[in-house]
Parts: sequence; C-alpha cells; structure tokens
Amino acid sequence: MLGKDVFYVKDYYIMLFTQTFIPTLREVPADAVIASHRLMFRSGMLRKLANGLFVYLPLGLRSFRKVEAIVREEMNAIGALEIKPTVVVPGELWKESGRWETMGDAMLRVKNRLGGDFVVSPTAEEAVTSLVRDALASYRQLPLTIYQINTKYRDEIRPRYGVMRGREFIMKDAYSYHTDEASLDETYHAMGAAYRRIFKRCGLSVIPVQADSGAMGGSDSEEFMVESAIGDNTLILCRDCDYAANVEKASCKPEAVLADSLSPTQASAVPALEPIHTPAVKTIEQLCAFLKTDAHKFIKTLIYRARNVALDLSGSPGVGGLAKRKSSPEAPLVYPEAFFAVAIRGDLEVNEVKLAAVLKASEVSLAADAEVVRLTAAPLGFAGPVGLKSLPLVADLTVTTMQDGITGALVADTHYVHVVYGRDFVPWLTADLRTVVSGDPCSLCGGELYEKKGNELGHIFKLGYKYTRSMQVSYLDENGQTHIPLMGTYGIGIDRTLASVIEEHHDDEGIIWPMTVAPYQVIIIPITYAGPVKALADTLAADLEQSRIEVLLDDRNERPGVKFKDADLMGIPYRVVVGEKNLARDTPVVEVKRRGEATFRLLEVAKAAAELNRLVYRELGC
Ligand code: ATP
Ligand code: MG
Repeated sequence: MLGKDVFYVKDYYIMLFTQTFIPTLREVPADAVIASHRLMFRSGMLRKLANGLFVYLPLGLRSFRKVEAIVREEMNAIGALEIKPTVVVPGELWKESGRWETMGDAMLRVKNRLGGDFVVSPTAEEAVTSLVRDALASYRQLPLTIYQINTKYRDEIRPRYGVMRGREFIMKDAYSYHTDEASLDETYHAMGAAYRRIFKRCGLSVIPVQADSGAMGGSDSEEFMVESAIGDNTLILCRDCDYAANVEKASCKPEAVLADSLSPTQASAVPALEPIHTPAVKTIEQLCAFLKTDAHKFIKTLIYRARNVALDLSGSPGVGGLAKRKSSPEAPLVYPEAFFAVAIRGDLEVNEVKLAAVLKASEVSLAADAEVVRLTAAPLGFAGPVGLKSLPLVADLTVTTMQDGITGALVADTHYVHVVYGRDFVPWLTADLRTVVSGDPCSLCGGELYEKKGNELGHIFKLGYKYTRSMQVSYLDENGQTHIPLMGTYGIGIDRTLASVIEEHHDDEGIIWPMTVAPYQVIIIPITYAGPVKALADTLAADLEQSRIEVLLDDRNERPGVKFKDADLMGIPYRVVVGEKNLARDTPVVEVKRRGEATFRLLEVAKAAAELNRLVYRELGC
C-alpha cells in the first residue's frame, strides 16, 4: 500500500490534491472577459501580480511546460540549436541595429549603476546576431539555426485578456543564418512545417496567412493565426481557394477597380479639367451629397508623415529633413522624417502597413492638420493631386484607372471635375495601397474574399540582410571572399498558445484539455478517501503511475459535488470515480468519464488501469 510519503516523493506522477496548491475559484475575476482568462484563474492555474504580469501556479505551469516541450521537440527535430541568453542585453546592440530609435516605448530600457544603457529583451535579433557575429568565420558553419525559449518583456500600452497579451511572457524565438536564398528558403519551410506540427499537437486549428514582410529587405512572411472574436488581426480569406492573408498584406484582383473606368478612347473624350465651387464642403460624404454622386468617383488625397524612410527621395519635393546614414557605413540612407501625399479612390481606405512597406518607413501616420495646411497651401479638405508640387505623390493602383474623377483643387471651396490620371497629374510612385475588404475578388481565383478576426500565435519571417548588414556580420566563402549572411526569424508565444488551447477547448463548466497539454491526464475522485475506497484509489493511482500516466488524486474531505465541479473546471481528460457501492458489486467497477463527453462508463476494477492506459496513450498519439 502506498502512503502519503511515497506520493510526496513521487509527485511527478501522482499528486494528492491536498499536497498541491490549486486554489480554484467559483467567482469570475471582474477583468476576465474571455474564457481562457476566466478559466485559468478559476481553475487555479494562474494569478495576477500586476497589470500584464502573471504567476503560473503549479497546475498552470504543468500545461505551460508541456507546450514548451512540444515546441522544443519540434525545434530540435529540424536541427535548431537551443541556447539560453540573458534577458537583459546591452543597449549598444540595439543602437547598432538602429532599433534603439525605432522600437518606441514598448521596449523597456534600464540603466545599470554605472549609467550604462540596457534593454529587457522584447525580442532577440540583436543579441543572437551579435553572438553569431563573434562566432562566425567560415561558410562551413552555415546554415545555422539557433533558438531560445525565454522571457520577453514588452511594455504593452494595454495588456489584456490575461496572458494573451501580457507585458512579460515567454517566447520561443529562433534565428537562422545562411549563405544563400535557397538555404534560407529551406529553413523557412522547415520552420513552417514544424509550426504546423506544433499547433496540431497542441490541439489547435491554426490558419497560416501571408503577412507583411516589413520595410527592409524581407521577402516572405507567414503568421499562424487562430480565429478569435477578440482577435487583434483581420484575416482576409477566399471562399473558393486557399488564399489567406493578414489584411495588412492582403491584395485583391485589380480588375475589381476597373469596373467604373473608361477605356483609353473614351478617356480622350473626357472634357477638360474644370474647377467647381464647393463652399464649405470638406468630407467625401458632404461632397457626395453636394454633387449627387458616389464616393468611388473621387480621388481622395491624404497627407502622411513617415519616419525613418529608407527610400531614395533625392530630387523629390517637400521631403523634410536630410537623409542620414544610420549605424554603419553599409546601412542604407534613411530620412528621419518625410511627408507624402497619398491618393486613393474615395470609397477605399489606405492600408498604412502597405504604405510603410512601399516607403520603406518604420512607421507612417496621418500628418497633423497644421502640417497639411502648410504642405498643401490649402485649407483642410481641399488637397488634391493636380498641381501638387510641394510633396511626392504616391497613388494607389485604383487611381491609375480613374479617367473622369473629382478631386480637391488645392484652393479653398474648390474641387476639380473631369480629372484624368496621366493627363492632369502624374504621381511620383504608384503602388497597391488599398485595404482589402469583404466582397473584394481574390487575386488568385477571383472568388469572393471575406474577413475573420484572428490572434497571432506565431510568425516566421525572412529578414534578408536587415540585421546582418547593420550589425556587420560576415563570413568567408570557399575562395576567401567576404560575404554577409542572410537571416530569418521565427517566433511563437508560449503563453498565448496555451491560452488559445483553452479558448478552443472548453465548455460552460471549464477546460477540456487535449491529452497532449493536460496538466494531469487522469483525476481519481474517491467519494470518501477512506477504507476500501481509499485502498482502491491508491492502488489504481500506483498502477497508472507504473505506465507513466500523470494522476491527480482528489483526497480532499469535500462533498463529491465539489470535487466533480473542480475536476470539470480543471479539465483533466479522464475522471475516475471510486465509490463504495460500485466496489461492493459482485464484479467491482469504477466510473470513468472523458471530460467533455456526456456519459460515463463502468470499468471492471481489475481492468481499469489497463484500459485507462490504452485510452490515454491513444490520445497522446503513441
Ligand atoms: P502582436 O501583433 O500580437 O503584438 P507581434 O507581431 O508583435 O504580436 P512577434 O514579435 O511576431 O509578435 O512575436 C512572436 C509571438 O510572440 C507572437 O506571435 C505572439 O504569440 C507572442 N507575443 C507577442 N506579444 C505578446 C504579448 N504581449 N503577450 C503574449 N504573447 C505575445
Ligand atoms: Mg508578429
């Protein structure tokens, strides 16, 4: 017979409820608006230390470690090598990469006692790249993929939804270095495949989507999303094919925007540009009402301020400050601030992520009213592309199809009608800048696009030379020539992944863990932990332990109803109830129920351990 001490020593497999620390709650914390947040608190997995800062309690930590273990296994399986850097890193490295200036307030900066600048890692491209820079000599060392599963800190403006968006969290972040595109591509795809396996093993249905690949150099980028009503991301999906993209990246079939335009021959018939008096008409809506027409007839012109623009703007008007070379001699020229006029069809919205990517800018935002007035030399509401000389004009592709449009005339109370692209104005740059919306046609198959809300769990990204160049990483090829390696970056949030498992697997009573990440696999509930019931519960627990099944034995002196409610809340996959009456039968039985299923079955005591063993391992996929 097993005594308490034995359980205590072997607590990895058998845990007595009274010996652990699982403070379940009946009430819901006031700030917990989503299921995972509520259930992690109520089931005793998690407590809050401060806004965005959490403590995993023993039950929560068990599942957390399992997600981590799955991620680690899949990383190791593709040859990624684990390291353990510090979380606090020298600010110098961030100054080298240029991100000391661009990261903004999300990055927690601290000073040490000597006044030196340090950063509490929000991510680790700099730290790992500096490591590789010091160690890399020859092409023979490449490709190299390094990862860590480690603390990150981001001073999020609005931490919310529990660990979904915390300030401190654990990320698996990997970084790869390559001699050529083909090698980067191979690792990028191996990562993508590993991510798909990781999320599948965690019981998650993820939607991989094309993502913005940023301002500098990057080419491919994929995000792994889970559908979520509270998701921060908008996903654009096609009803007829596999097209899936983050709205930040999504494009649609250009034909859609041609519908209302005229053919070139018709265009030559468009009357000459004509100013019209539009007193006190400033918004597109007012203009539509005034001219009794639709928004898609207008060319909307917005003035944007862009920061850290790495595009060559020499010769273009009204740019702002002079270009500066950041960090290293090889780094591209960057304009700290520049202004642009952006023209788009009146019924559409500018996608600022696309705009930033086109301008190779770290961020873009609408210019302040006073700047607009200064730069356009016109009152607010009358900006337009015709005669605009003070700013580089960037036009969305839709504008290039407009051959009888209406725009602001850069003069108070005046608009132009019969505006023809190419005849009346020529932009400095044209690009796809529109925000795709539900109903637009798919760029691949023409099918109907629709939107979903999603949360990002992971991200893989080809960075190109962005960090290796600015941080001056190099290696020698077989001929002794110096080269800069290509780089990729790959992240998964462990906390967010765990919370998302609960979002996908729960009911009104509590969590319903997939076996792979359940904190315990079996919970044994003796109706009263005494006499033959206790003896059988102990024996069964010991038998399961023999086959390395993780058991929580509810030895509390509580009413069965309380124990059942807690078991449902904690979501442990198999619940075994041991009761006196069932043991007194001719063939003694125990009651076994899979969490999430409505009915239980009776298992003969003599066969119970073997059957549970089979059930658990079947679900583990072993
Ligand atoms: P988000 O857009 O949600 O802020 P991100 O794009 O900034 O995320 P990455 O830099 O790509 O995030 O980080 C990789 C992963 O780290 C994300 O996919 C996510 O799972 C996780 N993550 C990022 N920020 C947080 C956070 N504040 N709390 C928990 N996990 C986070
Ligand atoms: Mg991301």
